Amino acid sequence: MTVLSIRGLKVYFSTEDGIVKAVNGVDLDIGENETLGLIGETGCGKTVLGLSILRLLSENTVVEGEILYRGMDLLKLSEEEMRKIRGKEIAMIFQNALTSMNPVLTVGTQVSEPFELHHGLRRRDALMKAIEMLKLVRISSPSERVKEYPHEFSGGMRQRAMIAMGLACEPSLIIADEPTTGLDVTIQAQVVELMKELTMRSRTSMLLITHDLGVAAELCDNIAVMYPGEIVEYANTVEIFKNPKHPYTQGFLDSLPGRGLKPMEGMSPSLINLPEGCKFHPRCPFALERCKREHPRMVEIGNNHQVRCFLYD
Ligand code: SF4
Repeated sequence: MTVLSIRGLKVYFSTEDGIVKAVNGVDLDIGENETLGLIGETGCGKTVLGLSILRLLSENTVVEGEILYRGMDLLKLSEEEMRKIRGKEIAMIFQNALTSMNPVLTVGTQVSEPFELHHGLRRRDALMKAIEMLKLVRISSPSERVKEYPHEFSGGMRQRAMIAMGLACEPSLIIADEPTTGLDVTIQAQVVELMKELTMRSRTSMLLITHDLGVAAELCDNIAVMYPGEIVEYANTVEIFKNPKHPYTQGFLDSLPGRGLKPMEGMSPSLINLPEGCKFHPRCPFALERCKREHPRMVEIGNNHQVRCFLYD
């Protein structure tokens, strides 16, 4: 069963420099207990896409299309109805726990808040639940740690506390935005392992937003590759790594340590000033004349593998 279905999503906002087309016609589906990785370079619109699902964008943002959560269009709900969904049905794990957690509230208060808000538990009972959650994410001496403030936690502990907050109400869907960025490699591996274990245990679906292909390979069932504002390739994780088809995906993978460490030519275009035709044509070693004028559509090339490139159309 599909938990989240996004159709024709566009997210634009105005700035002094012009209109930022952060998401430009995205279709995505996430099934029950599926982890979908949304990968791409920094600034390609993936965080904006994640925030738009929970309607956490500023008021000057124009959002068009459909974001169907279990068949219900989130873009049509009232703010009151959205408040009941956030944290309870769909939770978000942000990329930097130090800036995302409230520095003047104890970790216990913050982890227990969803239990008070969504389950109506009294403070004391909610705090007991918070202690259980911290224990689940392997924070030692949780009954003591709940009294501490975020700055008293190490980076890895803070990120685990964020995961505890995200999982507190056993949501159906988690949006995890670069959950391991800024952590050292050992802690990163522990956090990835923990997320894998917890989402499997609670059968939670997840949209994992990351530029780290190693993390995506560990956690994801399927991968959607984003290049400024749109999905350019989609397939299951093994297929993406073994048989990448889009020249951008190939270049992105070739730049990884262990796969050639070959930097990709050129820079990602500005979301304010996107090129005509295929957005990747100024950097593409295989660009054809038509790539400069026409916009390629997403085509199915078999085995549930889709690519947006004229080489396959
Ligand atoms: Fe390259 Fe053309 Fe394919 Fe775009 S459509 S990725 S420019 S070959």
